Amino acid sequence: MDIVTSQVGWIEIVCGPMFSGKSEELIRRLRRAGIARKRVQVFKPAIDDRYSLDEIVSHGDQRMKSQVVNNPKEILDRIDWRTQVIGIDESNFFGPDLVDVAGRLADAGKQVIIAGLDTDYLGRPFTPMPELLCLAESITKMLAICMRCGDPAKHTQRLVDMGDLIVVGAAGMYEARCRRCFEPGVPKQEVLEFARPPARLA
Ligand code: ADP
Ligand code: ZN
Repeated sequence: MDIVTSQVGWIEIVCGPMFSGKSEELIRRLRRAGIARKRVQVFKPAIDDRYSLDEIVSHGDQRMKSQVVNNPKEILDRIDWRTQVIGIDESNFFGPDLVDVAGRLADAGKQVIIAGLDTDYLGRPFTPMPELLCLAESITKMLAICMRCGDPAKHTQRLVDMGDLIVVGAAGMYEARCRRCFEPGVPKQEVLEFARPPARLA
């Protein structure tokens, strides 16, 4: 839902797994705000330098200029207070401080649009998204397409064996999976194939 008529501040969330179209939807909303002649600023975390340093980029290669910040508090420092609409991409990389910052911006009358993963590679709620979802005026949950079966997918499946919660990556390291096809962590079959000694000749 776009709420584009009011002057009151609010928080809108666009969440879901990787490849579900969160960045595309964020860019669409921000472009509409531009068409409505609103002042827009876009932020992304420094950790996400996969495709571009100063743009948010969707998997379908839609792009929009953004400012890179190292933490949520830096967003407050970088805000031009005439800005009316604030877009934040990859917000799951920002950690719990984003909750306070988003609330302060909305309280100050800003329209804050936040896109990010709602679950991690083990299928668990991804901080700070659960709290933001409770505090937001509007929530949109996006679904991707399961790469195993083609059904709607809410999970981000990690395909490489790394223990860290945050491993920034894209195609090849992650894929979208539905509830049925999701295997928390790395798919067992692929780990087995990786670890199995070479087959002996009978
Ligand atoms: P997100 O920000 O949620 O990771 P993006 O907006 O960057 O998603 O990319 C969405 C685009 O990714 C889709 O429009 C489609 O072109 C492409 N895509 C690639 N794999 C999938 C998939 N498994 N399901 C849906 N879209 C996919
Ligand atoms: Zn599936």
